[in-house]
Amino acid sequence: MADQYTFQDPVKQYPKPDDSWKQEQPGAGLEGRMHPTPDAGEKTYRGTGRLEGRKAVVTGADSGIGRAVAIAFAREGADVVLSYLPEEEDDAKQVVQLVSQAGRKAVACPGDLKDEEYCERLIRTAVDELGGLDLLANVAGKQQNQESIADITTGQFDETYRTNVYSMFWLCKAAAAVMPPGSAIINTTSIQAYEPSPILVDYASTKAAINGFTKGLAGQLAPKGIRVNAIAPGPIWTPLQQAGGQPEEALSSFGTQTPLGRPGQPVELAPAYVFLASAESSYVIGETLAVTGGMPTP
Ligand code: NAD
Ligand code: MG
Repeated sequence: MADQYTFQDPVKQYPKPDDSWKQEQPGAGLEGRMHPTPDAGEKTYRGTGRLEGRKAVVTGADSGIGRAVAIAFAREGADVVLSYLPEEEDDAKQVVQLVSQAGRKAVACPGDLKDEEYCERLIRTAVDELGGLDLLANVAGKQQNQESIADITTGQFDETYRTNVYSMFWLCKAAAAVMPPGSAIINTTSIQAYEPSPILVDYASTKAAINGFTKGLAGQLAPKGIRVNAIAPGPIWTPLQQAGGQPEEALSSFGTQTPLGRPGQPVELAPAYVFLASAESSYVIGETLAVTGGMPTP
């Protein structure tokens, strides 16, 4: 099986979308119901011991990018606390199994990140169950497209900000209090921070906020030996896009606007998270690493 080190043409590495990719899902969506199935590294990510003995929390760990990050962290040698919504148990069970198969500890901790108490509990779970925390990957996110600002309710605006921005604040705050020097925090922003879609006003603005928060906190925590960075994905094939992230008709051309001409797969994000998590990026701080298939970022 080809892994991430196999020499190949990135244009042809993964499929381009067609009409059969159009699909809608309620709620947060499930990876298990997607067609085609995304590649989150289940059969394609090979670890090389880059995170041996590390203790991680990954949010959104059931599906998409978070799933790829949890699998990669485990195969690189980290124990992982997995955060996801209770309704995503089916997806999460598979990730728990994959982390265990990698020989690492998997601790499932479902809950709602819009709740500050749950965010604090997530960090406490790592301390209690893994014996500490030195790696936090904030990957969870909410994205709901709306044609008009008139259709963005205060409820949606609030949920988008609580999920994407407030939870990051609560988790970073709780994590910074317990992390030893050498630790890493990785937030997840987006190409949308720089090129906001007219139909993603609330979402895109949370991603710009995440960039600013990341750079400010990076300067604050660097003297304590905690590195804070962010990843900016381009269009990636995940449940988020089917669960209201995009209008259904847009999925047949999803990702074709990139120079590679195709959407990214979640596993293609994993090496970037591993790099920022690992001590090999010791001098990389306050950076937003773009993984966009060639869409330019500032
Ligand atoms: P995804 O749907 O697989 O992952 C998002 C996860 O967020 C869900 O699995 C869910 O577990 C979690 N989540 C949402 N609301 C939550 C809540 N209230 N409480 C707890 N967990 C909650 O989709 P994904 O695309 O892998 O998204 C991961 C991150 O990548 C998000 O931050 C998203 O904004 C970002 N991103 C995605 C794309 C893309 O094209 N897919 C592009 C840029 C950025
Ligand atoms: Mg999910």
